[in-house]
Amino acid sequence: MLIKTLPVGHLETNCYIVTDENTLESVIIDPGAESNTILNYIEENGLKPKAIFITHGHFDHVTALSGVREATGAPVYVSKKDVCPPGLRTMHRLIEDDSFNYWKEGDSVTVGSMTFTVMETPGHSRGSVTIRCEDVLFTGDTLFRDSCGRTDLEGGDMGQILESLLRLADLEGDFEVYPGHGDSSTLDRERRFNYYINYARMQKERK
Ligand SMILES: [Zn+2]
Repeated sequence: MLIKTLPVGHLETNCYIVTDENTLESVIIDPGAESNTILNYIEENGLKPKAIFITHGHFDHVTALSGVREATGAPVYVSKKDVCPPGLRTMHRLIEDDSFNYWKEGDSVTVGSMTFTVMETPGHSRGSVTIRCEDVLFTGDTLFRDSCGRTDLEGGDMGQILESLLRLADLEGDFEVYPGHGDSSTLDRERRFNYYINYARMQKERK
């Protein structure tokens, strides 16, 4: 599994291109902006995009979605909780589309030799997910290196994100962590140093 990070747009959203090196079949995670940057990388490396995954529906993670989808024809996977009906336009959520595949907790998608499994990790938004593949977690805006996503936008909930962070921290073994913004990390590192994970533990122990 080869992971390419492309920070795109003025919020530097991490768009990840995950590739099975043997078949060159790939997945695009969060085409946040700059469809040309994303499509150029795919073309230059002769990749075969088979799916587009959305960690959550905020605009900075989906602005290049229509362009990338049109060019690749790849199916889109997203949580239904993060899309809204066309009449209800909002900056912060993706607009409903009949062709989307709505995934839920525990669903898996296989591309080449890679199997991706969904964990629902709400808190930053209602439909935020973490995507797990082998020993890698794509955490979107749920878990960042040393931090976590904001919870003051519509659908955000501090109590929920703390629970989601605990779920991640309680996974067995270590993982590489690829967040929606900023540098990558490891789960062990975040278990030790992430303030929000430790705060969530303290809150739980108090109950
Ligand atoms: Zn977000």
